[in-house]
Amino acid sequence: MQAAPVSGGEDFSPPGARAYAAEWARAVRRLGFVPLSAVETERLLLVHTARLAQALLAPTFSAQAAEHVGRALVEAHLTEPGVLDWSVRALGDHFLARVLPGRTEWPEARERVTASQGALSAGFARALRDRTFSQQERIARSAWQARDAVEQALRDSEARFRAVFTGAAIGIGIAGVDGRVIEVNQSFADMLGYTVDELRAINVASLFYADDAAGMWELYQELIEGKHDSVRVEKRYLRKDGTIVWTDLAVSLIRYDDGRPRFTVAMIEDITERYELQQRLRFQALHDPLTGLPNRTLFFETLGRVFESAAEEQRVGICFLDLDGFKAINDSLGHDLGDLLLIVISRRLADCVAGRGHLVARMGGDEFVILVDSGGGLDDAVEVAELALAAVSAPVHVGDQQLAVSASIGIVECPAAETSVSELMKAADTTLYWAKAEGRGRWAVYDPERSAADIARSALAAGLPAALDRGEFVLHYQPIVSLLDGTMLAVEALVRWQHPELGLIGPDRFIGLAEETGLIVRLGAWVLRQACRDAEGWRRAYPDAGLVVSVNLAARQADDPAIVDTVAEALTRTGLPAELLQLELTESAVMGTAGEPLRSLHELAGLGVRLAIDDFGTGYSNLAYLRRLPIHCLKLAGPFVEGIRADGADVAADHRDERIVDALVRLAHALELWVTAEAVETEVQAERLRALRCDTGQGRWFGAPVPADRIRARLAGEERP
Ligand code: C2E
Ligand code: MG
Ligand code: MG
Repeated sequence: MQAAPVSGGEDFSPPGARAYAAEWARAVRRLGFVPLSAVETERLLLVHTARLAQALLAPTFSAQAAEHVGRALVEAHLTEPGVLDWSVRALGDHFLARVLPGRTEWPEARERVTASQGALSAGFARALRDRTFSQQERIARSAWQARDAVEQALRDSEARFRAVFTGAAIGIGIAGVDGRVIEVNQSFADMLGYTVDELRAINVASLFYADDAAGMWELYQELIEGKHDSVRVEKRYLRKDGTIVWTDLAVSLIRYDDGRPRFTVAMIEDITERYELQQRLRFQALHDPLTGLPNRTLFFETLGRVFESAAEEQRVGICFLDLDGFKAINDSLGHDLGDLLLIVISRRLADCVAGRGHLVARMGGDEFVILVDSGGGLDDAVEVAELALAAVSAPVHVGDQQLAVSASIGIVECPAAETSVSELMKAADTTLYWAKAEGRGRWAVYDPERSAADIARSALAAGLPAALDRGEFVLHYQPIVSLLDGTMLAVEALVRWQHPELGLIGPDRFIGLAEETGLIVRLGAWVLRQACRDAEGWRRAYPDAGLVVSVNLAARQADDPAIVDTVAEALTRTGLPAELLQLELTESAVMGTAGEPLRSLHELAGLGVRLAIDDFGTGYSNLAYLRRLPIHCLKLAGPFVEGIRADGADVAADHRDERIVDALVRLAHALELWVTAEAVETEVQAERLRALRCDTGQGRWFGAPVPADRIRARLAGEERP
């Protein structure tokens, strides 16, 4: 049987081809994933079926078409191994039977089929190999491209790093954890005065400044042990030439992937100028520009630290020093010389405690303070105070002047736990005031009891004005009696304060305060008026008694220009005749502040009142003035009378007091003055004083101070001493 010739170019689609293609498509889809729809697959495989059939029937056979079909399967991604297997097997008898049923007996058909099977396999395999190759090539190409990109990036990064590293103004250094320098940039080398190569041969430890603050070395150790990732400190380095450079240092730790420390990267910036400026500013802020001594800020900072870090039982001591009369020196010599004096004194103070660890500070003006750094307690503080006083008191040459300067010092020394900065300073101030009050050129030690008394005193002083307004003062009167016949010739008015909480307070506790505050003028005026009113009452009731009232005038009161008016007004207001009023002034009050007897004495005497010198013999005994003053009476001070005793153990002293009293009485009588003996406590004293021709006596023996109504009772004869 002849083969039916098949025309080459025409579509060839034998009737069985469609069924074969459908079967092929089903098999292919069953065998694995196909990226085509079922219809598309079938259509594609129908084309191949036709192609295969056409090739088998061609007059001159070529296996090329089958190879193309194998290749096309791969290109359509039908690459499952089962697909090749099915396609090759089906291309045998099955193909002939289905697609070319008329040709099964054609002898050449079998040969052609076998050749086609091989060609399809070969095409499939080649295409698969080509595809694998091209995929590998693509992967390789991408890998190369990626590596190139990484390398380029690395090169870029390295270049950038280099640019930063070499061009940076800050110093950058990389060192191993063993301290060996691996790399440094030029700035780093410049800052430390080495060349880059010199530094590469060096261990960082040798650059450390020996006196670095404690902890700096430890911090570095901890960093290289991996306890920190970075540290930042201000730190000095030793330059090659031995000078110091202050740097702001930041060190970071670079680790291996497993976390072990690998390198340190240090970045340093030269901050020497800024540091020195800061230091200068800090020095200026903490030191006195005139003397260069630490100022009060630094003193309080230091004192604060002492308190903060004070161990239990630790004591703290200060000497608070103030020059005596500095203002006068300053005013008379001028401020320039005053400044020079302060500079000299400052230097001496600093020198005299130098090496003992004490801080000497200028608190301002002529005030200095020494913080005594000691375990030696009060003895140390006193020793420092004495050294300071000695240092100050050596003659000072300023300009062409030689000055003798002194100072007063308040010492406070106590357990730190018992005080605070402000209490300590307050105590020092109080104590300095005591030293000044005790006569300057000396030290005083703080005494809490005395301070408490001071505080009570000032509280009392503060309460005085209101007490006067509320009428809390009362007068008691003490008889002054004739030593000849015992008649009561006068009474002394003695003021008391009926305090709402403290009870009856004696004048010794508040007259001084009233003098200091100036209230004495108002209080004294009240006493005068009240005494005159009481005395006028007694006179009206007992005109024959001629009872004199004796009123004390404080120095400040007597010195007051208005005193004459005050006395005159008290007399006119109450109607008391002037001769029934006696005013008692102490010797110092008589002399006034101007150093000569008060002018007002004559005016007071001119009013007709009597004047007595109180506590005579205890004060400023310039007897010469007695002659020239309008005085009527001397009141002999208690201590002379106290020395007159029958049973005295010290007989010689008794006689001396008696002889003094004798002399004073004679003097008084020569000047035609009356003599009143104060503080007569015994019959013996009264008897002796009478024998010494003393005129009158006052004291417990003749009657204690009593309220006004008791005087009236005595005038009435109802009461006897
Ligand atoms: P003074 O003027 O020398 O008054 C006498 C003081 O001696 C009174 O103390 C009186 O109570 C006390 N005295 C009385 N008898 C005896 C005695 O037998 N023995 C002793 N040792 N003392 C006796 P007082 O009342 O405490 O007054 C003290 C001082 O207070 C007075 O001393 C006087 O200087 C001042 N003073 C009292 N009242 C006033 C006043 O109204 N104005 C002024 N400026 N000072 C007054
Ligand atoms: Mg008196
Ligand atoms: Mg007196």
